[in-house]
Amino acid sequence: MRKVIEIKNLEYTYPDGTKALNGVDLEVFEGESVALIGPNGAGKSTLLLHLNGILNGNGSVKILGRDLMGKNIREIRNKVGIVFQDPDNQLFSPTVFDDVAFGPINMGCSQKMVKEKVKDALSQIKMEEYKDRCPHHLSFGEKKRISLATVLSMNPEILALDEPTSNLDPVSRRNMIRLFHELKLTKVIATHDMEMVSEVCKRAILLSQGRIVADGKVSEILTNEELLKSHGLDPPPLVRFLKQMGYKDISLSLKEMIGRKEFIR
Ligand code: ADP
Ligand code: MG
Repeated sequence: MRKVIEIKNLEYTYPDGTKALNGVDLEVFEGESVALIGPNGAGKSTLLLHLNGILNGNGSVKILGRDLMGKNIREIRNKVGIVFQDPDNQLFSPTVFDDVAFGPINMGCSQKMVKEKVKDALSQIKMEEYKDRCPHHLSFGEKKRISLATVLSMNPEILALDEPTSNLDPVSRRNMIRLFHELKLTKVIATHDMEMVSEVCKRAILLSQGRIVADGKVSEILTNEELLKSHGLDPPPLVRFLKQMGYKDISLSLKEMIGRKEFIR
């Protein structure tokens, strides 16, 4: 499988002296959906911002086999779509169309091509009829989806999503999760939503104090209550429920577990 993200010994300190990344090594392969979990302040957002050169720390970052530096940066930016936690940081145009068209216009696409890309991106998130709306008048959940469309319109190969389901109502959250299943590209998802992780991701990376402290199967990391608790996190509700019901060996794939006879009773 093709390595699409290769990070070696990445360190980053904010200008005020806060050390946010403390030597991160990470490899992500094409098509993976990787969860980036960890307590507040662990460095998740900082790490995501290194995937397309918004931040530039010490160490090496290779995206799609190319060093993220110099003249490669522009091209890599088109290939890595970062969706910020707060949609108000992503949306700034008078209409949804303009926001979603911003990337393709910057890439130098023709007017016809821009229109096609916007239509395509909006249809992926099932919001074609929103193109003439004002982004700032939309609900929070709608803004979150439009934010996603502003990067999908660039046809990225990698999606970096920062807390994509936070503050969404149950229906919007469910829609978002459904979208993740439909989008087949490589995804790195920083999140506290453990239930979403268990549905969408096979691999989880636990970041704490700027370091990766665990990297493995979701089925193993999300069932390791001790590990999660020691870093200020909780296992997903299903895992807690099974523990309460007296199931001992829950370090099985969650899906596998649901399929087992003794569970269906
Ligand atoms: P997470 O996304 O896991 O909550 P962040 O990457 O936002 O963590 O933050 C990592 C560390 O960097 C924290 O200690 C945070 O306070 C600090 N930090 C984040 N943004 C800034 C900033 N703009 N200036 C200074 N420190 C920051
Ligand atoms: Mg964050």
